[in-house]
Amino acid sequence: MRKEKEASIRAIDELGRIVLPTEIRQKLDIRTNEKICLIERDDEIVLKKYKPSCAFCGSEESLVMYNKKYVCKDCSQSINSLF
Ligand SMILES: [Zn+2]
Repeated sequence: MRKEKEASIRAIDELGRIVLPTEIRQKLDIRTNEKICLIERDDEIVLKKYKPSCAFCGSEESLVMYNKKYVCKDCSQSINSLF
């Protein structure tokens, strides 16, 4: 079971923005202009630090970008072997 920290209440402004508390940004090493991943889960919104992953297998290792999607070395080799 995930351990939940104390809730932090933030207001959404007229453009739909919220401010992430400095303590959380520092703890997770989230820097200015870094990408954040928003996941809608039932009635919750989960924010995660964005980590690029392979579009086919989800691996975060040995990635190259092709047509704006990441592909790992293993999947790239598997695709190559089809031809
Ligand atoms: Zn892959």
